Amino acid sequence: MSPDVPRVTCGALTAADVGRAVELNGWVHRRRDHGGLIFIDLRDWTGLTQLVFNPATNDTQSAVFRQAEELRSEFVVGVRGIVQKRPAGTENPKLATGEIEVAVESIRVENESKTPPFVVASDDEPAEDVRLQYRYLDLRRPRMQRNLRMRHTIVKAIRDYFDEHDFVEIETPNLIKSTPEGARDYLVPSRVHRGTFYALPQSPQILKQILMIGGMGRYMQIARCFRDEDPRADRQPEFTQVDVEMTFVEQDDVLRMMEGCVRYVWRRALGAVIPDPLPRLTYAEAMTRYGSDKPDLRFGLDLVDVDDLFRGGAFGLFASLAESNDNRIVAVRWPGGAALSRRDFDAVTELAKQFGAKGLAYVTFAPDGVKGSIARFVDDALAAALRAETRAEDGDALLFVGDARGAASDVAGKLRLEIGDRLGLRKPEDFAFCWVSGFPLFEKDPETGEITFSHHPFTSPAPGQEALFDSDPLAITAQHYDLVLNGYELGSGSIRNHTVEFQRKVFRRLGLGDEQIEDRFGFFMEALAYGAPPHGGMALGIDRIVMLACGESSIRDVIAFPKNQMARDLMMDAPSTVPDQALRDLGLRIVQPAPVT
Ligand code: ASP
Repeated sequence: MSPDVPRVTCGALTAADVGRAVELNGWVHRRRDHGGLIFIDLRDWTGLTQLVFNPATNDTQSAVFRQAEELRSEFVVGVRGIVQKRPAGTENPKLATGEIEVAVESIRVENESKTPPFVVASDDEPAEDVRLQYRYLDLRRPRMQRNLRMRHTIVKAIRDYFDEHDFVEIETPNLIKSTPEGARDYLVPSRVHRGTFYALPQSPQILKQILMIGGMGRYMQIARCFRDEDPRADRQPEFTQVDVEMTFVEQDDVLRMMEGCVRYVWRRALGAVIPDPLPRLTYAEAMTRYGSDKPDLRFGLDLVDVDDLFRGGAFGLFASLAESNDNRIVAVRWPGGAALSRRDFDAVTELAKQFGAKGLAYVTFAPDGVKGSIARFVDDALAAALRAETRAEDGDALLFVGDARGAASDVAGKLRLEIGDRLGLRKPEDFAFCWVSGFPLFEKDPETGEITFSHHPFTSPAPGQEALFDSDPLAITAQHYDLVLNGYELGSGSIRNHTVEFQRKVFRRLGLGDEQIEDRFGFFMEALAYGAPPHGGMALGIDRIVMLACGESSIRDVIAFPKNQMARDLMMDAPSTVPDQALRDLGLRIVQPAPVT
């Protein structure tokens, strides 16, 4: 169409434009035939404009009307027409362009569309596999448009924040040697150097440390990370982090810099005010009060230890559990829980078992006394003590989990979240950040029983704990911190080992011999030996940040082209086989897995 008529976007026109001749381009979002009139909502990335086709006016108009009859969902068209006010009573206040419509005078079909496998304009959620296979159609949906725009806004705010604080964004390579973060590496075979492999970065960890050794005092990067982990509900084999590292800092400096970033981002992207400073919890505190190292602080209902109250009492199971400090008896208050039926409690007991509990005990409080599965063991004195400890009131229930310390905390923490969900206390529009720190440096691998790192092998222990390396390594506290939001870990960081001696000590404690250290990390050990400054940093998961900011519950909804839950790209059909020649070039042969008999 010729340029004399101004081209406008579909979200732009208002009542002030009435009478103007305009051109619009976009997709047919919705078509409605109304007794001789046709309405089409035309869509582009900025919004919707209602087009109206009236057959009656004159010959040109009736020709255009006949063209409009042929239009189908997702056809791409350019139209010209006159902006007019919608008739009184038909305005749509929910739409930016809801006061006007465009009476179309000419139309050009730029492209047709096959019938889409789902209706882009519908609010009904298509099956996820179909969304992922036809991602280009899914991306046309207003929700995905909004989410990816929010992602852009957030990433831009992150870059601006770090720029204002004198950080330099530096790209690090993707074809590297392994940087362990506790997952398997994705490997890329080298054609030029047969039989050798690059590893894709699990994170830029070693490289950003080397940047610090290289004198780049404040680094940040929006970095892609690759981790080959067993597929889990909301994991992606590749994901994006804002990766940060700073020299001459202590833990507190990193925490303050990073929380400044989330405050800035939340203010810019959502207009939300986040507390300054953020609450800080130790790992031990988080486990005790919330049964999780990523507590959801949008609501209270803290777990309460009641071992003392049951010790030596009438309820034999709890009385004996309370004898050992390795166990824990936890009460979780359920406000209003006394109104639940026996069947409700049976269902909650089932749930607790799914969480790993052996069983669940409960009592309810009402003016006429204590009821519930262990009511017969709860005399007046115990009832009063329980109410005092847990602040339970008439109408409340208490759920009790008694087990080995870790298991009891875990189950009680999950029950707390369940109660929070049922009472509507976990609102997506509330944001409760907190820091968790004071993690152990090492932990026991549950499968092998070997000592492994809790965070990654570059994390330094808190000062003054050297002696514990040999005597009690599991008791060493790390200078490692997590940022948590609404029960999700947004990211982790640590102060790093910056002397070669200390780094060697950690590697050795992890069971690596000198030869393995040399082979896997020799270059890094060498770099540490040339005046490595004290340094520390952290990385935050952008996908999770955007997910929570958008009120979504899956990171797949804030990534343009995610893999599905089985790590497959359904649109491209990846991973896929390659021609034999490609394998020969790489010197590779595929060994088929033995058939399962
Ligand atoms: N490499 C990150 C760090 O800065 C942690 C992570 O990737 O989870 O400590």
